[in-house]
Amino acid sequence: MSQLPEFFLGEQNQADDKQMSYEQVAETIIELGNRMLDEDESAEVWEVASGMLAGAVQFWLYSRQPCEDPFCQACADISSAERRLQALLKETHNLAEESDYFVSPKDGLTGTA
Ligand SMILES: [Zn+2]
Repeated sequence: MSQLPEFFLGEQNQADDKQMSYEQVAETIIELGNRMLDEDESAEVWEVASGMLAGAVQFWLYSRQPCEDPFCQACADISSAERRLQALLKETHNLAEESDYFVSPKDGLTGTA
């Protein structure tokens, strides 16, 4: 697997207990978004969120580059652009459904037309 971008490595090499958990990473991203909105009152929440999503997609795709072996079993699910996209959308779909904000009381009625 290829090397991760520097900012992800950061202080990770110092000690294993400093390694960020999945939840800590997610929490840090949310805090970053909140901080950007706090620091710049003209910032648009949709703009900030979409920019964060663009960065997250970029990072995710970078992390899912297949290894050199074209028959590698571990990389089978990410062995083409289309497969990576399917894996990304599946993970995104699950995360959306797990989110507290997935269903809103303000949602319009659907399927009644
Ligand atoms: Zn592989």
